[in-house]
Amino acid sequence: MIRIPKSIYQKMVEHARKEWPLECCGILSGKGETVQKAFEFRNGEESPTRYSISPREQLRVFEEIEKESMEMIAIYHSHPHTIPFPSETDVKMAFYPEVSSIIISLKDESNPEVKAFQIGKEAIYLEEIEVGP
Ligand SMILES: [Zn+2]
Repeated sequence: MIRIPKSIYQKMVEHARKEWPLECCGILSGKGETVQKAFEFRNGEESPTRYSISPREQLRVFEEIEKESMEMIAIYHSHPHTIPFPSETDVKMAFYPEVSSIIISLKDESNPEVKAFQIGKEAIYLEEIEVGP
């Protein structure tokens, strides 16, 4: 389960809309299961079907997360044209099995769908998202 404050949830969906028709990507950090902060990244791939975060940007954010005694809770990205389910590429690129993968689908533009997954080597698990106040 991941708890996301409403403002951060909305910011994440806005980020996906802003980058459409390309994928957006970012990191959510916080404490325990509660998200406290979102970091938006530039999608290094500039692609509608994949994303990458530059190692330098990643390192900068990891340092900031550590400085504020938070943990990385989730990596999010958007699916501008497809359903919110991890693609083959997403499974291959899931380098942090303990970190959730959030996918924002804009397949139905007027009704964005946000889902969280835990992508393991053997299986993909759906994780509950609670949008808080
Ligand atoms: Zn994906």
